[in-house]
Amino acid sequence: MQNLIQRTVYREDHESFREQVRRFFEKEVVPFHAEWERQGLVPKEVWRKAGREGLLNTLLPEPYGGGGDFGHAAVLIEEIARTGASGLGFPLHSDIVAPYIHTYGSKAQKDRWLPAMARGEMIGAIAMTEPGAGSDLKSVRTTAQKTSDGQHYVINGSKTFITNGINSELVIVVAKTAPELGAKGVSLIVVEAGTPGFSKGRKLEKIGLMAQDTSELFFDNVKVPVDHLLGEENMGFKYLMQELAQERLVVAVRAAMSIEAFLQKTVDYTRERKAFGQTVFEFQNTRFKLAEAKAKATMLRVFVDDCMALHLRHELTPERAAMVKLNATALQNQLLDEFLQLHGGYGYMTEYQVGRAWTDARVGRIYGGSDEIMKEIIARTL
Ligand SMILES: Cc1cc2nc3c(=O)[nH]c(=O)nc-3n(C[C@H](O)[C@H](O)[C@H](O)COP(=O)(O)OP(=O)(O)OC[C@H]3O[C@@H](n4cnc5c(N)ncnc54)[C@H](O)[C@@H]3O)c2cc1C
Repeated sequence: MQNLIQRTVYREDHESFREQVRRFFEKEVVPFHAEWERQGLVPKEVWRKAGREGLLNTLLPEPYGGGGDFGHAAVLIEEIARTGASGLGFPLHSDIVAPYIHTYGSKAQKDRWLPAMARGEMIGAIAMTEPGAGSDLKSVRTTAQKTSDGQHYVINGSKTFITNGINSELVIVVAKTAPELGAKGVSLIVVEAGTPGFSKGRKLEKIGLMAQDTSELFFDNVKVPVDHLLGEENMGFKYLMQELAQERLVVAVRAAMSIEAFLQKTVDYTRERKAFGQTVFEFQNTRFKLAEAKAKATMLRVFVDDCMALHLRHELTPERAAMVKLNATALQNQLLDEFLQLHGGYGYMTEYQVGRAWTDARVGRIYGGSDEIMKEIIARTL
């Protein structure tokens, strides 16, 4: 589909990066994605290849990443949405996990972890959610207690729904270092795979995002040196709140492109498909549905690009990020449902991407903060 508006948010270097990403996806991702969906996992080798191509940590400065900005990150997210390659957990790794290390980590921590993440040799995850605590993050029960000599933390607890969990080689764990202080006693601590006591649970079976690995993680007396703490002790909750705006924008960028891609696919499909002696596109209902979709998608595109421009200037506020996520995912869910309907029974078949996109989209209203939490954030500014 042609761009709905003239997109001024991208520069030429972003668009040439898009060409590079497209070539990589055509060769290394699209032909294999269905197989990864059956396996429930994207092989680590694909991460290593993406690392060699410079597709990871794109928004971080060299040598920690690609020396780009959020525009490069957004290009990759859009290509994931456009091709339906929802198994790739690259955005979580590059645009959520790596920035925590870059923003709050010491030079030694950055040197140790970020170049390896940029090469795809250390796959990143962030473990906030627990079986008993999701939206209410401050009530996490995982603890990190300092040893009596002050040299280590000992982590105990369990996490669930962790993206890249099975593949993860580095996990930022949200743990209480001072449980009596509630939200003011939360810290972020890095745990590397292979550390004794750290284990991965089952790969969770989901209704969508079939190729993306999502798992439980367990911490049983996991001992890590104190220099695995990111930033200051007990400041974790504040760090999480600061970084969540970017995470929400990532979800919105993906939703907007998914709508545009499937609008085009639905136009193409309905122009081909015949019923009652005419194409499905020729029914007034179809054209009106698609016209409404285009009008709404255009409105969303203006808002998403504006939020991206604000974010590139470091001016995106938490409430704007909440608004764009809330709107983008609501519209994505509504419109993908209508696009699926216009595909008839074929829409329900996995061989047609629209059905998979429809199931993939549902989680956008839940993860990264649910709709209801977004409304809470916005309501505080009324
Ligand atoms: C595919 C997938 C991937 C994920 N990846 C990660 C990851 O990588 N790392 C990670 O840490 N987590 C991850 N999550 C977890 C996700 O962030 C949580 O599921 C989400 O924050 C909601 O938490 P919860 O599931 O505990 O629901 P709950 O918090 O139990 O919420 C249940 C319902 O109550 C509502 N609710 C809760 N609080 C309020 C309130 N104050 N007002 C009104 N309604 C409220 C919620 O909106 C929801 O509708 C992932 C989840 C999924 C499904």
